[in-house]
Amino acid sequence: MRKGRIDYRMRRRAVLRDVREGLTSCDDVRDAHPDLLRAASHIGTATREPCPLCDVHTLTHVDYVFEGKGARTPSGRAVPRETVAAHADRIGDLQVYVVEVCLGCHWHHLVESYLHEARDTDAIHG
Ligand SMILES: [Zn+2]
Repeated sequence: MRKGRIDYRMRRRAVLRDVREGLTSCDDVRDAHPDLLRAASHIGTATREPCPLCDVHTLTHVDYVFEGKGARTPSGRAVPRETVAAHADRIGDLQVYVVEVCLGCHWHHLVESYLHEARDTDAIHG
């Protein structure tokens, strides 16, 4: 079950506005980490949404999961979207961060985060 969804579109719009107005260099927002790019091309979820920066390629979403409520530790890892529920059922509640990436120009931004609750907590600890 999804809970506590946070949408980062406002922040994304602000970043894009800064780029358009020249307050932020294009290169500063096209610095996707090689690990993120690798995750995007191997286990990412393709979208039909065009990249807001280059407008040539479409965006890919990468889901990062972190154990526990509100946790955001280096233990987070990218997992295929279709396995998030299974991970939650096995490990427990997961904080999920969805990042959009352009494999063309390397734009990346946080899209949303939410808590994915395990289906049956008793089953995990029992
Ligand atoms: Zn792009």
